Amino acid sequence: MKTAKIKCERCGKVLKRRNIKWLELSNTDGNYYSDKLPNGHISQGAFPFGTDCAIIQMKETIDNIKTTKP
Ligand SMILES: [Zn+2]
Repeated sequence: MKTAKIKCERCGKVLKRRNIKWLELSNTDGNYYSDKLPNGHISQGAFPFGTDCAIIQMKETIDNIKTTKP
């Protein structure tokens, strides 16, 4: 039986299970979310991130939302 190694979606680093933060990728706007999904959100699935990368990724989501909304 092989043990699947979970890698960070952002940096590709192999993650320890307790450090994994799952973020949901929205098909609606292409951003990752941990909560507060956009209106009419269609999920592309959840992807694993390291805790640091998850924070960076969520900042990017917030920036993307700011720039796409008037
Ligand atoms: Zn990472």
